[in-house]
Amino acid sequence: MDFQGKLRFADEEKERGMAVIESMVEGVVVIDSDQKILLINSVLSQAFDLKRNEIQGRLFWEVFRDPRLNEMIEKSLKSRLPAGLEHSILLSNSVFQIQVSPVFKGEEFLGVTAVFHDVTKLKELERLRSDFVANVSHELKTPLTSIIGSIETLKEGAAENPRDRARFLDVIDEHSKNLRHLIEDLLLLSKVESGRENLRREKLDAEKILKKVIGTLDLDLNSKKIKVNLDFPEKPFLILADAKSIEQVFLNLIGNAIKYNEPGGKITVRGFYEADSAKIEFEDTGIGIPESDIPRIFERFYRVDKSRSRESGGTGLGLAIVKHIIERHSGQIHVKSHPQQGSTFTITLPRH
Ligand code: ADP
Repeated sequence: MDFQGKLRFADEEKERGMAVIESMVEGVVVIDSDQKILLINSVLSQAFDLKRNEIQGRLFWEVFRDPRLNEMIEKSLKSRLPAGLEHSILLSNSVFQIQVSPVFKGEEFLGVTAVFHDVTKLKELERLRSDFVANVSHELKTPLTSIIGSIETLKEGAAENPRDRARFLDVIDEHSKNLRHLIEDLLLLSKVESGRENLRREKLDAEKILKKVIGTLDLDLNSKKIKVNLDFPEKPFLILADAKSIEQVFLNLIGNAIKYNEPGGKITVRGFYEADSAKIEFEDTGIGIPESDIPRIFERFYRVDKSRSRESGGTGLGLAIVKHIIERHSGQIHVKSHPQQGSTFTITLPRH
């Protein structure tokens, strides 16, 4: 091959190499043994907010003004050994796992390649998981502390006095039930979040399920003198959903409409069709939700008023469960609320 041919061949190889690097989801930079940037793909130049044509051929440490990264590349260039680092790049708020590898052609050392894996999402998931574990532990500890405290007081003599005994047994009873409720909700949440259970979509009469749910809440409704009004002009009001899951959604939403209602308040459940969907509104005349809290109420353990939620046996997981179930039905949930006037939760489900 003549010299021109060799050059063309080298160019073609370079282009091919560039195409491979460009197609990678990771950020890649190739640095030669003179510390100059040979190649950089767009993933990386964008992450660092760099203009590609302005940096090719420049010294890497002039371009990446990041001491930890530069130190690692320099070390690898000197030692000709691989190096690794997990590093947050402040510029883009991203966390990258960076792997630097030496490149050899036979015996000849050509430089290093640095590959940047974006692990920002993974890190965020790790953070959420550890926050969740911390929250669960805290939520379990609170009722347990009361239970243990009451048992100790009883053992120290309160059990001799019938009134004290009854009082502390009531505390133990209430907090044990809260604990059981919390564990049940945690198991339920993990089931719906994992998506392990297949949903059976069947034709269901929403009003019939609502009546069943309201029946189970009779005691709470009576003790707060709250009336529920069902407004379903179309009968039967058919939806396409998994019976058990949708019953849980209705139970949580009506349960909340009772818990956060005033004594003597009202709940109206309304159903209507809109195009291909069935909408059900749960309206209450309760305490309402401040506007700034609305975006957060579907988060696990988020409560506007922790003590009010706990006193009424809330776990802070009810709406997270509702949202997951609705989303697994390809549905949606929306909230409108005015403090001191009431709230309306609207769910949209596929129509049968
Ligand atoms: P909880 O077990 O605390 O009721 P949820 O996940 O069901 O947990 O609800 C989260 C928070 O949203 C509640 O603690 C409460 O502050 C608020 N909330 C939910 N439903 C209503 C409602 N109908 N009216 C007023 N506030 C509500």
